[in-house]
Amino acid sequence: MRTSKLYAPTLRETPAEAEVISHQLMLRAGFIRKAAGGIYNYLPLAWRVLKKIERIVREEMDAAGGQELLLPIVLPAEMWQETGRWDVYGDEMFRLKDRHGRDFCLGPTHEEMITTLIRDEVRSYRQLPLLLYQIQNKFRDERRPRFGLMRGREFIMKDLYSFDRDEAGLDISYKKMYDAYSNVFTRCGLTFRPVEADPGAIGGKGSHEFMVIAEAGEAGIVYCDGGCDYAANVEKAELHPIAAPAAAPLALELKDTPGTKTIAAVADFLGLPADRTVKTLAYATDKGLVIALVRGDHEVNEIKVQNAVGCIALEMADEAAIAAAGTSPGFMGPIGIKNAIVVADNTVMKMANTVVGANQGDRHYVNVNPGRDFTPDIVADIRLIQEGDPCPRCGTPVKAARGIEVGQVFKLYTKYSRKLNATYLDENGQEQVMVMGTYGIGISRTMAAAIEQNNDANGIIWPAAIAPFQAVVIPVNNADPGQRELAERMYADLTAAGLETVLDDRDERAGVKFKDADLIGYPLKVTVGAKAVAEQRVEVKTRRGGETHFFPLAEATAAVKDLLAKL
Ligand code: ATP
Ligand code: MG
Repeated sequence: MRTSKLYAPTLRETPAEAEVISHQLMLRAGFIRKAAGGIYNYLPLAWRVLKKIERIVREEMDAAGGQELLLPIVLPAEMWQETGRWDVYGDEMFRLKDRHGRDFCLGPTHEEMITTLIRDEVRSYRQLPLLLYQIQNKFRDERRPRFGLMRGREFIMKDLYSFDRDEAGLDISYKKMYDAYSNVFTRCGLTFRPVEADPGAIGGKGSHEFMVIAEAGEAGIVYCDGGCDYAANVEKAELHPIAAPAAAPLALELKDTPGTKTIAAVADFLGLPADRTVKTLAYATDKGLVIALVRGDHEVNEIKVQNAVGCIALEMADEAAIAAAGTSPGFMGPIGIKNAIVVADNTVMKMANTVVGANQGDRHYVNVNPGRDFTPDIVADIRLIQEGDPCPRCGTPVKAARGIEVGQVFKLYTKYSRKLNATYLDENGQEQVMVMGTYGIGISRTMAAAIEQNNDANGIIWPAAIAPFQAVVIPVNNADPGQRELAERMYADLTAAGLETVLDDRDERAGVKFKDADLIGYPLKVTVGAKAVAEQRVEVKTRRGGETHFFPLAEATAAVKDLLAKL
């Protein structure tokens, strides 16, 4: 490819709307252009990267026994109504009607479609296991599309579905996918961690997310480097209850605590550390008002609250909902509260002589002993883990990091197969429900994650395996016939040797060409200047690390190939 022909419109300025580095660089380097919020055109450079990621994914899916197919994007409503997701999906689903008024959606995921497809075709245990996948654009009308390709409304996903005879079979399929995912992200040159994820309503030990470690990650993760390999999404990370020092219970007391609406204020007023108080939060849910209690210095994990209560929707309650429960914002507490489900963290139940809001303005109860003075409806682990909390496996203080979820593997068990009636006949001719798993990789998000992890002030530093091109040849002065000729020769030789090479044949200043090469992030830059012509040797610079090598012309192509293999 010649730069003069390459459709990669670069920008000098960083577009103001781009908050994260991958979005900025993809716009600046001419990889993507926006069509609408969360919807992008992939220009040739981006498409080359995406194809490479897809290829790695395909190879690993095929090696794990997957078979590729392609399901429709436009999906009829009926199958979603059968599983109940037509309603549950809410506004995130792009919906449309055909000319006859029938309901359809643009596929956000394909459990319904694949299960309805195979339920009519797969009848015998001999046909199982079955691992089917596709790579396709998915549509989700995200509440907050942002960060460019990271959270799009139209994005590219690989989705694989496994169908097994039983849970033992599912365990095998799951392990195959887990390993295949590890291979995919390793081959893409990414630093990642599989972490335990919250399987939500399905429960069980059933899900891992693959997280690319990067500051811009939307997910918080914790991991243990104290000898055990525990790692989890903070949403999921378990916490054991903390024992409080033994204390003789004192008599409950109602106290005036004027203006103490926060934990810090009430702790200060009473002369107590925050960890001797209890924090109360109120949530509006589809099961009514929920009051969550954690130790004053702890934070609530809303996903855990949701799982403990078994509700679908949960958001902070507004003042009206709090007033309707007969309490007062800033002074809420579990004693005497009505019309609310009270959920207490395990650790709260271990506390003695603590402090809670009295459900009336400017008052708290002190010397509160949970169990004696109030009985929660639910006691569970609802605390959000923090850096330094003990690892739930080995007790070492955990470390925290940010991650970009590039993939997720998930044991569905019979959640969809039961509702959609996907059954088979076993060895004894008995009808059995198929056991399923679902496994997604965000192809376009992986490209963004690769840039988040691999960049510097000058631009992108592509991992060699997914770079749009492997090398660029730059004649310093294109007007010089000697340099031009030598650059053409290098370009032809490298291309003939199977390297994906770009020749920057533009009549631009050398500085401009070097800048663009760094911005686009070609792993290798072959420079042909006056010295190269005079001494018959070329300069080859690695984008990562910026090492410079000089190779005699006769050996240059082989040497560039070697260098690339080592990147
Ligand atoms: P998230 O929690 O980030 O919204 P999800 O858990 O809903 O993602 P899955 O249904 O597990 O996503 O989809 C599989 C993969 O598809 C994700 O691991 C992610 O890499 C990718 N993905 C999901 N949503 C988006 C999006 N809006 N834009 C780009 N990629 C996405
Ligand atoms: Mg996910």
